[in-house]
Amino acid sequence: MAEDTKNFKVAEFACKCGCGNKIDQRVLDMAQTIREALGVPVRVNSGYRCAQHNAKVGGVKGSKHVLGLAADLSCSLGSQKMFDTVKQLKADGKLPDLDYCKKYRSWIHIDCGGKRRNMWEG
Ligand SMILES: [Zn+2]
Ligand SMILES: [Zn+2]
Repeated sequence: MAEDTKNFKVAEFACKCGCGNKIDQRVLDMAQTIREALGVPVRVNSGYRCAQHNAKVGGVKGSKHVLGLAADLSCSLGSQKMFDTVKQLKADGKLPDLDYCKKYRSWIHIDCGGKRRNMWEG
């Protein structure tokens, strides 16, 4: 079972359908590192998702959310600022677990679900 970090509670990463929570500690730790670099509150739009809930919200099959290895995060600074900050943190060696990051219009997806050909999208 994962543990809370300074600014995030494990419960924030639970499946929205109420079935439970299989979030990995590394996801909380990455979110904490990103939050500290941004210096503003970060909202967890989505963390762990069971397969049924993932299908319901239109998540891709094999989504890293289903494995508890991903989170979608947003904040008042916008997704571009978040994306740039995550890239900088990775370049500085401060997000060793991060394997993939995608920028959406109003949030970013991060995960530690294994290396992809393109680590950055968006
Ligand atoms: Zn669920
Ligand atoms: Zn996601």
